[in-house]
Amino acid sequence: MISIVVPCFNEQEVLECFYRETVKVLEDLEHTYELIFVNDGSSDNTMGILRKLAAQNPAVHYISFSRNFGKEAAMLAGLNYSSGDAVVILDADLQHPPGLIPRLVKHFENGYDQVIAKRNRKGESLIRSSVSRLYYKLMNRFVDINLEDGVGDFRLLSRKAVNAILSLREYNRFSKGLFSWIGFKEYVIYYDNVNRKAGQTKWAFSKLLNYGIDGVISFNNKPLRMSIYMGLTITLLGILYVLFTFIKIMINGIDQPGYFTIISSILLIGGIQLIFLGVIGEYIGRIYYESKQRPHYIVEEESFSKSHMEMMEQ
Ligand code: UDP
Ligand code: MG
Repeated sequence: MISIVVPCFNEQEVLECFYRETVKVLEDLEHTYELIFVNDGSSDNTMGILRKLAAQNPAVHYISFSRNFGKEAAMLAGLNYSSGDAVVILDADLQHPPGLIPRLVKHFENGYDQVIAKRNRKGESLIRSSVSRLYYKLMNRFVDINLEDGVGDFRLLSRKAVNAILSLREYNRFSKGLFSWIGFKEYVIYYDNVNRKAGQTKWAFSKLLNYGIDGVISFNNKPLRMSIYMGLTITLLGILYVLFTFIKIMINGIDQPGYFTIISSILLIGGIQLIFLGVIGEYIGRIYYESKQRPHYIVEEESFSKSHMEMMEQ
């Protein structure tokens, strides 16, 4: 059986269209399937549509959160409830073409545990694509795991890979990193970037920026290490400056002007201290969240049967 996991947040405009296209592809597959929609606290009619679809088709299930917990939590819930031999994660907006599912499954049958669909950046604004490119370049420099541009959450995971992902219980989840971290045999297929069919993207620039920072911080402590090096460098420069000035005073005597240098060094060092206090704060914040051990999401309603729930708990 193949499970399809679809996080949905205010997707009423595309959901039915998505369902039609996806089911068409799935019916042609030689496997049975289950379609798991995760309603991530939508405020529109997403839930109404999901109830209707689940009533129509016994292979359709839904999980509905009590509020918006974010796509990471939605994917985790979907994986948690899935029972297929392989799971495909799809966006609801048809940006991940369901037509690629048979190809993903084919490579799974050939023994790959992660089949990744990689997109190019066709049709995307120049600014966004060049910022992304720069980001991935920097990331791969500073972070231990390898992240690739154009590789997102659109992929097939074997049961083994799903269990590995589920065994990572951290609260701050950065899926791109987690997928790469678990390893396993990977196969990459390529597709052209498609624009969202209808509705709106939930990724404002500020959200993307936060996501980018998450990616750096959640995977290692290199930014902390970097702050030590930078602090050492600046301290060394400071000592040299003090020595230099001291010798100058011994030779020439004290001269009044010096206001500029003092102010500039205070500003510079103050700024750098603030940045790294922020870095340290980020890590402490994460420790704080992890130590609370809260669940990743709260389910308000779901369409799975009792026996399924019992099976999951085992
Ligand atoms: N999504 C979600 N919770 C959120 C934001 C997004 O479940 O808080 C879902 C959304 O419904 C969609 C997928 O994640 O199925 C990708 O979101 P979107 O298309 O807005 O992102 P983009 O493709 O623009 O990166
Ligand atoms: Mg999208």
